[in-house]
Amino acid sequence: NFISAVVPSGEIGVKFDDIGALEEVKRTLNELVTLPMRRPELFSHGNLLRPCKGILLFGPPGTGKTLLAKALATEAGANFISVTGSTLTSKWFGDAEKLTKALFSFASKLAPVIIFVDEIDSLLGARGGAFEHEATRRMKNEFMAAWDGLRSKDSQRILILGATNRPFDLDDAVIRRLPRRIYVDLPDADNRMKILRIFLAKENLEPEFKYNKLANVTEGYSGSDLKNLCIAAAYRPVQELLAEENKVGTENVSSVLRQLNLDDFIQA
Ligand code: ATP
Repeated sequence: NFISAVVPSGEIGVKFDDIGALEEVKRTLNELVTLPMRRPELFSHGNLLRPCKGILLFGPPGTGKTLLAKALATEAGANFISVTGSTLTSKWFGDAEKLTKALFSFASKLAPVIIFVDEIDSLLGARGGAFEHEATRRMKNEFMAAWDGLRSKDSQRILILGATNRPFDLDDAVIRRLPRRIYVDLPDADNRMKILRIFLAKENLEPEFKYNKLANVTEGYSGSDLKNLCIAAAYRPVQELLAEENKVGTENVSSVLRQLNLDDFIQA
């Protein structure tokens, strides 16, 4: 199916508290989405207070854009539809019109709903001029037309949330339809510590485990990199048959870091 996931709001299982750091991003999303979806009557009069029809999350890979989209649906009490830009264009060449119509009519039935378009640049990337494949062009135009065509009643309750690592590849016409663009940055040391605390919250840690040291030597790590590091460290005691202790300790993390050439942590 060209829709990669449809999840009812109550079953998403991720909320903002499960996401470390990104406080400012969560606050902005709450303001732009949660409030209008939960209290549409506040936005039904006047000209200035209009719910946002489109938001773009952009930033390096693994920084939690997908996670934010899912958690936002939970917070806003919205159902969640996820489509991946690259699947839409490569697999379904030719069926553009039918698929786009189906997606939007499905969304109207599921409102309030967030349509999360991951890799939105591959679906709605810059027009490729004469070289652009005809089917891609059709898909893009169909998608934008359906988006514009959302009746105002629906537009309060259907949000297109796009995500990309390559914002500069987006078509200008698409950028205009995503009036709010939110940068999801790599975490700094303080935020890496917050993320690590979430991942290691239920692990059996050595009493002298030093979150700040680990946060300091993982400069440049995304949330996803930190998660992989913690998983690898948690596996170590199991692999080393220390199952009866099963503790994540400085030595476990150090040996993973040694493999990754992050010697500072070991020496610190
Ligand atoms: P991509 O651009 O590669 O699609 P993304 O920005 O959408 O990446 P996610 O898929 O949301 O990133 O993140 C990958 C995994 O990393 C998530 O499942 C989550 O477990 C973890 N993760 C990333 N950032 C955070 C964070 N701030 N707090 C908690 N977990 C995080």
